[in-house]
Amino acid sequence: MEPVYLGLGSNLADPWRQLCRALWNLRRLPGLHLQAVSPAYRSAAVRLPGDEAEQPDYLNAVCLVSTRLAPRRLLGLLKALEARQGRRPGRRWGPRPLDLDILLWGGRRWSDAVLSVPHPRLAERRFVLQPLADLDPTLRVPGRGSVRCLLVRCGGAPLQHWPLPWPEGLA
Ligand code: AMP
Repeated sequence: MEPVYLGLGSNLADPWRQLCRALWNLRRLPGLHLQAVSPAYRSAAVRLPGDEAEQPDYLNAVCLVSTRLAPRRLLGLLKALEARQGRRPGRRWGPRPLDLDILLWGGRRWSDAVLSVPHPRLAERRFVLQPLADLDPTLRVPGRGSVRCLLVRCGGAPLQHWPLPWPEGLA
């Protein structure tokens, strides 16, 4: 099975707990096997140009899973988990208790109206590249190059991070 990397992010309603709960929920999704979890990284919220509203900082992490689910089916399950953890439709890049993204699906590249893989903004985001490099420093983003090179190219200071617990016995 191809390695699939998922991104997790939260900046509302106790982000640390939201990430822990999301991992717990992911671990229990039928058809998906959680294999590794990165540390959680803290960063300022990305906002749309012209959006002046203050937002709390984000906590982001990535996890490695293997799955026999089809990509669209997995996306649907991730959206259901976001809703279960209190995410409601809101403005683009607005604050949220949970954001789940499909970052990479092995070496595959495709894009349609619903899903683009690799995730379209992955290569510019330190808060995604750093945890990906933690899980596999040799990882490559199809069509974009190695995660290490992308990290150098995206610049900025290394982000503060904390290890996340393996999702065992969390409620
Ligand atoms: P978001 O605001 O991150 O929850 O994403 C909004 C929409 O982006 C989703 O409903 C998906 O249809 C679309 N999308 C496109 N590519 C991806 C991806 N790789 N992972 C997650 N969502 C994606």
